[in-house]
Amino acid sequence: MTYRNVIDSHFHTQSMLQRGMDVFSLYDRLFDGGFAGGIDIGCTHDDLPQRRELLKDYPAILLSGAMGPWEAGRSETKPVEPEYEYQSAKSISQIESELDILKENIIRYKASFIGEIGLDYYWDYGTHEKQHLIFESQMRWASEMGLRVLIHDRDADADTAEVIRRLGPDRGGVIHCFDGSPIVLEAALEKGYFISFAGNLTYKRNTDLRQMLRRVPMDRLLLETDSPYLAPVPLRGQSNNPSFIIHTYECAAETLGMNAEDLAIIIKDNYDRLTASV
Ligand SMILES: [Zn+2]
Repeated sequence: MTYRNVIDSHFHTQSMLQRGMDVFSLYDRLFDGGFAGGIDIGCTHDDLPQRRELLKDYPAILLSGAMGPWEAGRSETKPVEPEYEYQSAKSISQIESELDILKENIIRYKASFIGEIGLDYYWDYGTHEKQHLIFESQMRWASEMGLRVLIHDRDADADTAEVIRRLGPDRGGVIHCFDGSPIVLEAALEKGYFISFAGNLTYKRNTDLRQMLRRVPMDRLLLETDSPYLAPVPLRGQSNNPSFIIHTYECAAETLGMNAEDLAIIIKDNYDRLTASV
């Protein structure tokens, strides 16, 4: 397939740059090939100013801003995540002042979404209480500001579903890198969210995830790379980039028994609704 109508709902430009990838020539080639755009995802309370500057020449790349669960600081129950800077514990007051900085940045740098936000009990950053403080504060802002949210959930399905049901903003959002959890799917569909599948959809052992793809209504489906992570088969193991999303489109199309070009049109339409009046 070509890049015509193809979107990538979730990638991290800064993390690709940190890996030494030639991101901008890659984006230029992609857009020349018909790529329709995507969302560059924020991770920390202070990354928006730099990301806005980096991507100023790419109007089809929208920006989100957020404190992810990692911003709860060093896990108080588990060993530190390797290769990450979240090496020190954070106090509640530090988290609160970082939330203040983030909120100002979201307004000042006109983030189109709040994300990625959520819960991660796999790495178990900080404490659950701190993760909830960060997650729920931003869910409330999304309602106040009329923004959609982009949700990260790792090994925290029940709590994520509960927060989505209780605080899911009116305008909904996206479950990013959906891992197949039926309770999260149910809460998310109820609240009008889109469901985004990443490169792990293509992994041989993930038959259950492909099974779940068939349960997502076609008008709620999105695809993403989560670059530079989770490169799809047959490029698994490499640093991921948005051009690799073609393989995820092809896998999803095959799973759904349709051709990839038709799927791209449907997903582009979903993406247009997600990004309408942001
Ligand atoms: Zn991500």
